[in-house]
Amino acid sequence: MHYDYIIVGQGIAGTMLSNALLKHHKKILVVDQSFSSTSLAIGGGMYSPIIFKRFTKAWMVDKLLPQLIRDYTELEQLLNIHFLDKKDILRIFASEQEKKLWQNKCIEEAYWNYLYDEIVEDYSPLIHAPYGYGRVKNAGSVNLHLLLNAFRNYLKLKKLLREERLNYEEIIFEDGEVKWKGVSAKKIIFCEGYYALNNNPFFNDLPFVLAKGELLKAHPLPHTNWLKSPLDFCPPKGREQRQHEIKLPEDYIISSGVNISPIGNDEFIIGSTYSWDDLSFTPTEKGKEELLSKLKKVLNVDIEVTSQFSGIRPTVKDRRPLMGLHPQNASIGIFNGMGTKGVMLAPYFAEHFTNHLLNNADLLPEVYAFRHVKENNKK
Ligand SMILES: Cc1cc2nc3c(=O)[nH]c(=O)nc-3n(C[C@H](O)[C@H](O)[C@H](O)COP(=O)(O)OP(=O)(O)OC[C@H]3O[C@@H](n4cnc5c(N)ncnc54)[C@H](O)[C@@H]3O)c2cc1C
Repeated sequence: MHYDYIIVGQGIAGTMLSNALLKHHKKILVVDQSFSSTSLAIGGGMYSPIIFKRFTKAWMVDKLLPQLIRDYTELEQLLNIHFLDKKDILRIFASEQEKKLWQNKCIEEAYWNYLYDEIVEDYSPLIHAPYGYGRVKNAGSVNLHLLLNAFRNYLKLKKLLREERLNYEEIIFEDGEVKWKGVSAKKIIFCEGYYALNNNPFFNDLPFVLAKGELLKAHPLPHTNWLKSPLDFCPPKGREQRQHEIKLPEDYIISSGVNISPIGNDEFIIGSTYSWDDLSFTPTEKGKEELLSKLKKVLNVDIEVTSQFSGIRPTVKDRRPLMGLHPQNASIGIFNGMGTKGVMLAPYFAEHFTNHLLNNADLLPEVYAFRHVKENNKK
């Protein structure tokens, strides 16, 4: 069987690249051993147009967001599922100074699409926010479990998926084609996430700085409050003083030292940690403690942790994705380096890279996988 492209890996990068190529009527075969813990770790992968450190706009967000909405909405229709949850973020201000910084950003026209200038003073008695909140619009989350599983089933139905590990030594390059286990293709594109580092012999010199992350799935325990009505202070004879239960609301994603993302049914994803030393795949007690102690500063309610996840982010030194064809062998390509922002970067750059593959359109120099090699050669 002959294909246009073999795509190795079906995380968010491989999924969006496959989708873009299929939309251009290319014949593809996807090879994926099983989902990595990284994809699975983020049931609700957040996207935010704002970087909270200094309230600056995320890189290229004006272009990334419209493509994100377009592609995920189209995929929801194609796969007949709902995985895109558009939801504003409430950022808890850490100080008056931070609030002032926010208010200054709100004046700039470039931020009007992303920040509400009204400060939210009160949201829930269960959240500690003495300086109030800033509200970010055009944010949300994508349920990667749902999306990746549904796209996998779609590929299976169309007989476009091989569920196995691709071993590099089984690849043969012959007559300008790639051959692997009885199939051939014009090109093979690796979308392997962190697996690429130290494993993929064709791309063993890429500037990855992998970062492990952990997160928790949890639900707040019921919290009761005395109802403060005159009757409660002076209840009629025989009438019990009334209580009412307050719930942590699910209207917004809450952001402070941790992000608290509602995923429905009173459940929240609490994330996430960053570790550059421990790159083991397993969740740790240390990670859990770190998240819980940050959470304690924000929530006035006890929570029950129902599960803990960890994964490894394919982060790059300069925080930009990596894509392109191999300078010595144009039959091999890479689409990787989505780092901490796979949900937001993958749709736009899948289209960008597809345009490069099909029409030879220029890649942005910032995302060309061999940008660092070029720099070294210049010296
Ligand atoms: C704790 C945590 C929280 C995160 N939160 C967010 C968030 O809120 N928002 C956000 O946008 N991003 C978030 N991220 C980052 C996001 O998970 C990554 O950007 C994204 O998963 C990268 O996708 P990928 O497809 O490149 O790699 P992966 O998700 O790792 O997928 C790679 C796939 O390739 C397969 N594979 C690899 N090698 C082979 C081979 N040789 N043969 C066959 N199959 C192979 C793997 O099995 C896997 O299925 C988070 C990450 C972590 C760890």
